[in-house]
Amino acid sequence: MPSENRAKPEVIVQGISASQGIAYGEIFVYLQSQVEVPNYQVDPEKRIDEVARFDQALLVTRQQIAKIQSEVEKNLGADEARIFDAHLLVLEDQALITETIRDFETTGRNIETCFNGVAQRYIQAFAKIDDEYLRERAGDIRDVAQRVLQNLLGQAENSLSRLAEKRIVVANDLSPSDSASIDRSAALAIVTDSGSKTSHAVIVARSMKVPAVVGARDLTKRVRTGDRILVDGYEGIVILNPSEQTLFRYGEIQLQKKSFEQRLLESIRQPAVTRDGVDVKLMANIEKVEELPQVKEHLAAGIGLFRTEYLYLSSARIPTEQEQFLAYAAAAEALKPQPVIVRTLDLGGDKPLASHPDLFPHEANPFMGFRAIRFCLEHHQIFRDQLRAILLASAHGQVELMYPMISGVDELVRANALLEECRVELRARNQPFDEKMAIGAMIEIPSAAAIIDLLAPHCSFFSIGTNDLIQYLLAIDRGNERIANLYEPTHPAVLRTIKHIVDEAHRFGRPVGVCGEMGGDPVFVPLLLGLGVDSLSMTPSWLPTVKYLVRAMTMADARQLAVEALAMDSPKEIYAKCDAFYRARVKVG
Ligand code: PEP
Ligand code: MG
Repeated sequence: MPSENRAKPEVIVQGISASQGIAYGEIFVYLQSQVEVPNYQVDPEKRIDEVARFDQALLVTRQQIAKIQSEVEKNLGADEARIFDAHLLVLEDQALITETIRDFETTGRNIETCFNGVAQRYIQAFAKIDDEYLRERAGDIRDVAQRVLQNLLGQAENSLSRLAEKRIVVANDLSPSDSASIDRSAALAIVTDSGSKTSHAVIVARSMKVPAVVGARDLTKRVRTGDRILVDGYEGIVILNPSEQTLFRYGEIQLQKKSFEQRLLESIRQPAVTRDGVDVKLMANIEKVEELPQVKEHLAAGIGLFRTEYLYLSSARIPTEQEQFLAYAAAAEALKPQPVIVRTLDLGGDKPLASHPDLFPHEANPFMGFRAIRFCLEHHQIFRDQLRAILLASAHGQVELMYPMISGVDELVRANALLEECRVELRARNQPFDEKMAIGAMIEIPSAAAIIDLLAPHCSFFSIGTNDLIQYLLAIDRGNERIANLYEPTHPAVLRTIKHIVDEAHRFGRPVGVCGEMGGDPVFVPLLLGLGVDSLSMTPSWLPTVKYLVRAMTMADARQLAVEALAMDSPKEIYAKCDAFYRARVKVG
């Protein structure tokens, strides 16, 4: 057979699973490219027109972004749309505009050159800053600058908005504008060379319910528009030149997954009880009240973590006591008699308050810096407004309160003292609240894990924040892609620490929940329950799978799994053991 007729060998590219599902089809390669900027001297008599051209391009860009924003809001919700607020702010940045005009007046070069020069200076300055949030601002400016330049040069919007037919989009990178402009009716899947599980492209792919794989490295260099590939969003795999057998296998998998999803949805109405009759409390994590209907739909046993900082992050100013009260009371009313655990403010770290840079000055190590309870204990007024709002909401349902990032007894005692002052104020105001509202401490710093016995007299429950606990225990920045492979929830140190927390807390009669991502991952759920954790709180959409799993396992087996895992030394082997436990009970198909 002549070599050109021979089937090309199958190539498997391992990326990161970002949105589940399987797709097979032709690809459209999208390369984010820099706009070519012409550079020329403008005739003195045309200078007025040049400034008018700039004003017009800014106006058109603003209209385009506002349009994208309203479409995103309609399709994905207000939160996703908020990213474009940052883009609109770039267009309002007086420094960027006046510097461009000043450069133009002094050099007489065309406005594209002047604007591009100023924008690049800003991008470079932001990109150098050792702060993830500010570095992202560089991306916002780049994205907006590209648009302004395209408008100045009369270039059309990118081709992602006009996919001719159903295509798998393979891109080197996708900016928020790119992601938002993807033709929803025609995108079969999204694959990017770069990116992490939390990149914007991924959020968009998930909301479009199309499979997505990120971190496929140099895939755009290995394929061409028109090639056919298979995307496995479950395993984070892309297969080039898939064989007939592979396609058949994936066809079967797809059918099985569909019928499995159906079974999951059915299990949501059933109680979360193991086969040997143990009730498991499965709760939901929320960030805003808009998620309450989803929590109700998934029949969560309450809210195990209300991340209140999003109320602050989504507003241009700090929300008042009354505004916060309305949010917490809405959750309490919606869920009663089930509990709603409101976590006090966890700003700082990866969540600085953009509207108040004065409150969060730049720090070299924000994750180990002025964050959460540390911030609240320095800013009494902000903290007390929140504490009063939570107390007031407790009159409307089963509200509980917990403090994040507790590292020692002193913080817990000081926070409780402020809470007591708030109670006194409310009594003086004659406003009702639950005098017995339960107070909990999050255990997410190793020092707190080591002193559960000392913390226990000052609170009535504990909630393990595994996201932070693992990062501090293993010294692995939870947001750093380069060391993501070292972020191992099954590290023996993590298992022993959780076991220690649970045993100590139970010795003092305090229940323990897990509200980090680990608590909603079906691979880890049996291990956590086997270690003695009393409740799990997770993203509402994970509840069906976790409930299905709980109903398919016995607590006796989970305890045995924990005993065996605790005796092992390799995180990978412990992971494999947990994975096998899960897969043996939850068979897709
Ligand atoms: C955690 O650290 O596990 C947690 C739940 O808190 P957050 O992810 O908000 O830091
Ligand atoms: Mg945390």
